[in-house]
Amino acid sequence: MAQTLLTDVQALTDEAVRHLQALLRLDTTNPPGNETLAVNYLADVLQREGYRPTVIESGPGRGNLVVRFRGSGEREPLLIYSHVDVVTAEPNHWTHEPFSGDVADGCIWGRGALDMKSMVAHELMVMLLLKRQGVQLKRDVIFAATADEEAGGDAGIGFLVDHHPDLIRAEYGLSEGGGTTMFIAGKAVYDVRTGEKGTCRFKLRAYDEPGHGSVPRPRTSVSQAAEAVVKLVNTPLPFRPTATFTAFFATLTDLIQLPAAKRELNERNLKEVLDLLPAALARYLNAIARDTATPTGLRAGSKINVIPTSAEVSVDGRFLPGQTEEGFLAEVRQVIGEGYEIEQLDTGRPQEDPPGGPLYDTILSVMKRYAPDAIVMPMMMSGATDARHVSRLGTKCLGFDPVRIREDFPAEQLVHGHDERIPIDGYVWGLQAFYDIVTQFCSR
Ligand SMILES: [Zn+2]
Repeated sequence: MAQTLLTDVQALTDEAVRHLQALLRLDTTNPPGNETLAVNYLADVLQREGYRPTVIESGPGRGNLVVRFRGSGEREPLLIYSHVDVVTAEPNHWTHEPFSGDVADGCIWGRGALDMKSMVAHELMVMLLLKRQGVQLKRDVIFAATADEEAGGDAGIGFLVDHHPDLIRAEYGLSEGGGTTMFIAGKAVYDVRTGEKGTCRFKLRAYDEPGHGSVPRPRTSVSQAAEAVVKLVNTPLPFRPTATFTAFFATLTDLIQLPAAKRELNERNLKEVLDLLPAALARYLNAIARDTATPTGLRAGSKINVIPTSAEVSVDGRFLPGQTEEGFLAEVRQVIGEGYEIEQLDTGRPQEDPPGGPLYDTILSVMKRYAPDAIVMPMMMSGATDARHVSRLGTKCLGFDPVRIREDFPAEQLVHGHDERIPIDGYVWGLQAFYDIVTQFCSR
């Protein structure tokens, strides 16, 4: 039952734009968050449409909303979820105030226009449309709008997973991390986030004899820490293809029309392919082809004439699905060698729902209609989203919120950057596609 309702596109556009503007005008900068502002707005709109949303604060002002559209229960629910907090903005760098929600140049402007109040509004509209259409579904659709993603999600969806799991328990989850048009070799591409890396941050310490700065030693805690940094930066960890990366590579080599001999996925062919791509894309693809350990901080010594006993390096570690923390740290030790103390800090699990499942296939089939000439391909995220919390409940999480942009629209630099905005036509087009994905998936 694929149904494209949306007959009155003008009315749909007006309503979808109005909700996004309203959300953008609420300052939910995290910290402190104040997400209850946005959650109350959503609750109000949903209540007027006959829903009974649940609002739960994890702390003062840290609102989370959950609401359910009932299906027949023949299948397990689909959770559509998004975060309502945003990162900080520097107003003096913006053409339109970050919390203006202005409409100008065919775009809606404001912090969160792309990340990710646009998807909040898509999901809100889907709930409203389901109700108005009286759609018969086999799965419940649960909508969760939550706090705190930009600071790790513990006060947001992580809180719901820990304290109210039954409210959001679902077989499949759909959220951010894919769906904005990308262009590779001049071709429009839509990526579906089918996995994301886990985190394993650690401090690495070197110890050695102290001494006077006027009497050099061949080896000190500082020199050893520096050696570890250089090794980590210069030595890639082993190539580790995931199901996502393998499927992605096949599509990519097709797209850039590589000769058959170069299409086998191995480290040598990968390197050749990366050399053909723009540097930023190549760096990203390299990051999802292996575990990574990036030195991001250095600390040693307090007096300039004293050789210190210890030196410390902060390392942002990311590991792929299929890898363990222990396995990852063993790779790191292999690179830096013996003699370092490693103190593990926070960790977050990786997750992957390999391409080819029913939700992925639904996305493919809907996008065939909405963007017949575009390519849909799976993608691993180098960073983490709220999926790391949701997947703790056994939910299979994908990231896809369709937004159509033109090749010259700098979406990537606007996310967390200045002048964040979304083109209205691509936003409303995306709402139609997203609605079809949800109804088609939950009807089958
Ligand atoms: Zn986000």
